[in-house]
Amino acid sequence: MNNFDELKGKKSPPSGNESNHRLSIWYHPIYTEGIHPDARFPRDRYTKLVDKLKIPEHSDKFIIKQPIEASRNQLIVAHSPNYVDNFLNQNLTEKEIKRIGLTPWTPDIIPRTLLLMGGAIAALDHVMENGGIAGNMAGGTHHAHYDFGSGYCIFNDLAVCSLLALSKYQLTKIVVIDLDVHQGDGTATILQDVDEVLTISVHCQQNFPFRKSESDYDLDLPANAGDEEILSMVTRALEITKQFDPELILFQAGVDGLATDALGKLNISRQGMNMRNEMVFDLAVKQSIPTVVFMGGGYSNPISHTIDAFSDLFLSAYRANKQILAKS
Ligand SMILES: [Zn+2]
Repeated sequence: MNNFDELKGKKSPPSGNESNHRLSIWYHPIYTEGIHPDARFPRDRYTKLVDKLKIPEHSDKFIIKQPIEASRNQLIVAHSPNYVDNFLNQNLTEKEIKRIGLTPWTPDIIPRTLLLMGGAIAALDHVMENGGIAGNMAGGTHHAHYDFGSGYCIFNDLAVCSLLALSKYQLTKIVVIDLDVHQGDGTATILQDVDEVLTISVHCQQNFPFRKSESDYDLDLPANAGDEEILSMVTRALEITKQFDPELILFQAGVDGLATDALGKLNISRQGMNMRNEMVFDLAVKQSIPTVVFMGGGYSNPISHTIDAFSDLFLSAYRANKQILAKS
């Protein structure tokens, strides 16, 4: 049986050891289809990535699961009820929509956003219940603030998952590691006064957002920085993480720092990006820390470089998850 049967609503047979070690990833075709084909955003990246991960060679590695929509109650843990309602009732102003982007909007942007948030929450629940690593094949919407969206981000999945994890699982120490080339400004402001969540953002100083927020740790890189610079910043980020000794890691794994990226301004190779991911997952493995992977940005031209880097990311996550679960 293939790993997409869950999408068709079939039940998997009782799983043996091997399938227990498969990496759970949440995905829905609306991640692509909920964005208008004329939007500047490279919406095909989700379908292209899922096609790449479902080749027979990987059939023993991934379980692709279909999310359910996040509820209004889940969203308002991190967002103004007024903003959430205005979005759900299609009452955002032109200006608010323009700040988010992904235009022209289609009505499917609403179910897309709710399913994308639901995918992140499901991945969080999965790692809290089973340990190990899980991911959402979208999201990492770190530019969404308490009462407005920005930079392709409507609601902040990292902030929502952090606050849900605190209330639902009574966690006391969570780290958000944001390695996207852009600063996690929305996450930083929403979680500013939440001592239980440490926000770390490694990003390019000269890139969007031009007015930065204050994360707990902002580790910025100059434009054109390459593998060596990014990996030394990631080392620092992971030392800080280790010190904090978290019970959960939320990893924003944007690959828009690739040299081929149209928006990135950094000069990271595919291999450097891969090493970056391995470093994060090594810590998760060594300390058996439940970890959720949020995809984040990636706008390479051609887009195949972004797809390759995200494919590398999920393959690394698969291997690390297997190692964590083998220990338990
Ligand atoms: Zn980005």
